[in-house]
Amino acid sequence: MDINSIKGTGLTSQSSREKLIHELKGLGIKNSEVLNLISNMPRHLFLDTALASRAYENVSLPIGFKQTISQPYMVAKMTELLHETNSMNHVLEIGTGSGYQTSILSMLFKKVTTIERISTLHEQSKKKLNYLGFKNISFILGDGHLGFPNNAPYDAIIITAVADDLPETLINQLSPTGRIVLPLMHKGEQKLTKLKNTKNGIIKKIIEDVVFVPMLKGVENT
Ligand code: SAH
Repeated sequence: MDINSIKGTGLTSQSSREKLIHELKGLGIKNSEVLNLISNMPRHLFLDTALASRAYENVSLPIGFKQTISQPYMVAKMTELLHETNSMNHVLEIGTGSGYQTSILSMLFKKVTTIERISTLHEQSKKKLNYLGFKNISFILGDGHLGFPNNAPYDAIIITAVADDLPETLINQLSPTGRIVLPLMHKGEQKLTKLKNTKNGIIKKIIEDVVFVPMLKGVENT
């Protein structure tokens, strides 16, 4: 899909969008495709109208149910870490939330499977992204700890809630050269972590300190 065909793209807040991109570059985001998507995606449409005026600030904001839309820097950083040219077929996202990160992934990968455990957030994001014209996303209401084996294997898995340790189930749904980017507890602290599948097993790389909401068990009917 062409970014310009998304409803609401590029029409508002041009100067605050440019300021955000400048800030993200300053924080070390380099991938021009990722920066271009963040610059053009209508983040204000993923927020409550009362918060829409803050959509292009580099902050996380509430989306209800004690959850937040991730900070643009974190969306950019995680997307950049997931991006591996020639291996962009299928991504699994755990924690659909507002659907904002989902929209970015949808522009980069051929297919997206996204799982959310809170029924209202799942329904709202599905409706919004369908309305905006995204066509390559499967929306699943479920517990991300289980992954979604029906659509496996995945080239990439992204988790946007913090886990105590990585469910083995998800590793099993990864392609032989796949990678997982997630916040993981490490010695009592949350660390952004990249796990890469190789012939010799999983290689783990700790990236930086982060703050995420917890990954919870089961489905919540709201
Ligand atoms: N990336 C999204 C949401 C971030 S908040 C955004 O930017 O809008 C984290 C989301 O993960 C919340 O919506 C929360 O309900 C969801 N979540 C937490 N544990 C989960 C689990 N086990 N399975 C699926 N989703 C989960």
